[in-house]
Amino acid sequence: MEVLLEKRLKTEEIVKKSRSLLPGGVNSPVRSFPDVDLLPLIVQEGKGDSVRDVDGKEMIDYCMSWGVLILGHAKDSIVEASVKAIQKGSSFGIHTQIETEMAEKVCALVPAIEMVRFVNSGTEATSTAIRLARGYTSRNVIVKFNGNYHGHVDSLLVKAGSGVIDINDEATSKGIPKDSVKDTVCLEYNDIEGVKELFSRSEYRGKIAAVILEPVAGNMGVIPADKAFLDVLAQETRKSGALLIIDEVITGFRVSLHGAADFYGIKPDLITLGKVIGGGFPVAAIGGRREIMNRLAPIGEVYQAGTLSGNPVAMNAGYQTLQEISKPGFYEDLKAKTDILTKPIQERLKKTPHSLVQVGSMFSLFFNVKNPKTRHDLDKMDLDYFKRFFAYLFEKGIYIPPSAFETWFVSSAHTEEHLTYTRDVILSFLGKL
Ligand SMILES: *Cc1c(COP(=O)(O)O)cnc(C)c1O
Repeated sequence: MEVLLEKRLKTEEIVKKSRSLLPGGVNSPVRSFPDVDLLPLIVQEGKGDSVRDVDGKEMIDYCMSWGVLILGHAKDSIVEASVKAIQKGSSFGIHTQIETEMAEKVCALVPAIEMVRFVNSGTEATSTAIRLARGYTSRNVIVKFNGNYHGHVDSLLVKAGSGVIDINDEATSKGIPKDSVKDTVCLEYNDIEGVKELFSRSEYRGKIAAVILEPVAGNMGVIPADKAFLDVLAQETRKSGALLIIDEVITGFRVSLHGAADFYGIKPDLITLGKVIGGGFPVAAIGGRREIMNRLAPIGEVYQAGTLSGNPVAMNAGYQTLQEISKPGFYEDLKAKTDILTKPIQERLKKTPHSLVQVGSMFSLFFNVKNPKTRHDLDKMDLDYFKRFFAYLFEKGIYIPPSAFETWFVSSAHTEEHLTYTRDVILSFLGKL
């Protein structure tokens, strides 16, 4: 691995220009490196498990487009599928056969999905799921969990109040009217008592449209849901006539071929998918029980549409991705690869205040936090230590998500050589504890 220690002159130039043209110089906030004291990465190209920046710096990538690239960068079969598709036309706004084939594949792979609608982003998928749940149940209240992220949907950008159940939950962004969040209740993740208490309250009887959650939280670092917590959610929603929405935008086709809900043995009413499903293109999906899905327009009265939805280039790339990950042993190999990196570090961290939490090919290091269960458990995270860690790895040609509250992803393209190199760099950093 070549490490260039020279100044990043081209990067500096582009960052400067970008900041005058794009808010923060980026099209999505974390890309501007707000949580680390470094010039952002400006990527030029990627292949396999690595990217090269505009100054020629090579980096092993563990962000992998935030979990999208389960096969690595520019995988030959994905490139071929998308090039072949684009030569026949990039967009029609008319139904194409590949959309039906993709739907058939998704329904076959994910047990809780009987019908599916493809959209262009995870945010679109979750906002449609919320509208559909409200339309189907004729109820308004949505329950979400602190630290779970479901895209930038108005009604889901809330932070938890201070009480166990605080109905005056506040929006986490300006520009969201109080009315948009007044029917959202935010509870602590993995808090069974909080859920039971909410569902037992008379003022919520017959009012809760849906509970939405990440089955393995990936947007506050990796925090898996306890099986007992998932079971209680399944029971309480069924009893009260509310829908259970499992947001698998990260976990779908990541933790297993059949999704995290299946992996944990729960049957949700609706599932949202994204990231991996598009093979590097903007694809997401909402799927679930036929009876609910048929309430979407044009059959039903819940409106949803999209100019580029089911885009044939993206569908072909996504379909090819699903073919690749369906090959026998894919997930076992991916887990074994990830273990090369994670197991020795977990061992090393045992007698420290830090921890590494892993689910399959996704994991996070938590500095000064031991095996967290809730977002609240992360309050004492050592953010300065993370900054130094990030800079140390960056310097050594290892790119990880530039925030302490994110997930690292290993792809099938990661080489054993790069994984052991990364492991050794991390162990050498930790040796300085
Ligand atoms: C990334 C993500 C989203 C949002 O998806 P976008 O494509 O960024 O809109 C929603 N839910 C979860 C769990 C995610 O990780």
